[in-house]
Amino acid sequence: MRIVVAGGGVVGLWIAMELAAAGAEVVVADRGTPAGVAAPVSAGWVVPLLSAPLSGPGVLLRAAERLARGRASFAVRPALSPALPRWALAFLRSGSARAHRDGSRALLELGVPAVAGFEKLCRTHPFELHRTGLLIAARSPHGVAEAAELVEDARAAGYTGPVTTLDGARARALEPALGERVAGAVHAGDELHVRPEQLLDALATAAGERGVEIRRDAPVLGVERSGHGRWRVATARGALEADRVVITAGVWSADLLAGLGVPVPLLPGAGYSLTSAGTGTRPRHALKLLEDNVAISPFDGEVRVAGMFELAAGPRPPVPRRMRHVVRMALPYLRDWRPSRARVGYGLRPATPDSLPLIGPVPGREGVYAATGHGMLGLTLAPGTAEHLAPLVLGGPVPPVLEPFSLTRRSAARRG
Ligand SMILES: Cc1cc2nc3c(=O)[nH]c(=O)nc-3n(C[C@H](O)[C@H](O)[C@H](O)COP(=O)(O)OP(=O)(O)OC[C@H]3O[C@@H](n4cnc5c(N)ncnc54)[C@H](O)[C@@H]3O)c2cc1C
Repeated sequence: MRIVVAGGGVVGLWIAMELAAAGAEVVVADRGTPAGVAAPVSAGWVVPLLSAPLSGPGVLLRAAERLARGRASFAVRPALSPALPRWALAFLRSGSARAHRDGSRALLELGVPAVAGFEKLCRTHPFELHRTGLLIAARSPHGVAEAAELVEDARAAGYTGPVTTLDGARARALEPALGERVAGAVHAGDELHVRPEQLLDALATAAGERGVEIRRDAPVLGVERSGHGRWRVATARGALEADRVVITAGVWSADLLAGLGVPVPLLPGAGYSLTSAGTGTRPRHALKLLEDNVAISPFDGEVRVAGMFELAAGPRPPVPRRMRHVVRMALPYLRDWRPSRARVGYGLRPATPDSLPLIGPVPGREGVYAATGHGMLGLTLAPGTAEHLAPLVLGGPVPPVLEPFSLTRRSAARRG
């Protein structure tokens, strides 16, 4: 069976690798230009603990408080774009306590293979992988309580990893890069973080060794029927015939699906990151700075600071002041680390209104599948997505674990 995977990001490569391991002939067609691609600029966290959807009870109140204090970690632009109201409405609709709880459970289950999947790949194709766990640091007693609540919610959704609660002094003893203003932290010992650029290289090598043909510089222009139940994938470098097609082009999947007559509510949630050796005490742990939603990842010799969720009506050029804002929010948590001579990155997270990815058959287009919309968790969810989607593409039934991610679920199905 010949399968074309449209999009060679973290999700597409992981799926291609699984399909080839199961014996399929796989070609990955990728656009090849890095602008806006999410994974390489990401924080590299593999964090099933953080599986909760963004929408949920109290989220608007918390967002308003942060906006009022000038510490918002989100933005919308342009504020009055016609593409946003429908997404925003679906976001609000998916914010009930029940939807939040069900969404957390579904995401957590999809994230179960994550840690073992990264460990396994790293054993055969080494890349930077850090096992120091995730430290969620808060600057106020209120923030410490919020961190505890986050853990409690994850436990209720089925999270079983070890978590230790620390007061400010113990948090600083564990992580000397934290400053005096940190009031407390929770440490989740099982979470990992990786250097995402190296991960992508390792994935491409592993997939290639399993026989996957990766065509860079081959943006997919469209997918159409070619007769006898087969598909033709038009790329800028010629057409590819396929028995099955899997659309994994991150946020750009929305255009390919719209071309097939299947619009999906997928918008770019832009994020920013800065990578620098910096000066001062470098963190040793992946740090989530709770009140300000900033992610810090220490890599070998460098530190990455990442944040912002800028919901845009379509791919747009980056706004440099957003990165400065993220760094300004991070510094009060840190003892004395400061960035110097930094590289700034910008990536578009494929964001659905209910924070659940779109994984499964494309309705009415037999033989075409989608795996996109992984939002804030694409690295974490890539191994589970691949593990469960590959047997389906090869002819199996939709497994129960993928049912919540159907393209026909209420918050995903759209007409016209
Ligand atoms: C600042 C930031 C921090 C993040 N931190 C984390 C984190 O710590 N942990 C985590 O789990 N997730 C994190 N994420 C989210 C994660 O990066 C995304 O969810 C993930 O990258 C989505 O994977 P993807 O393969 O679907 O899309 P992408 O990584 O965006 O890849 C899309 C691929 O499709 C290709 N493509 C696009 N258009 C076409 C076309 N027409 N034809 C062919 N190919 C095409 C692109 O070239 C690219 O290779 C972060 C994101 C950002 C922006």
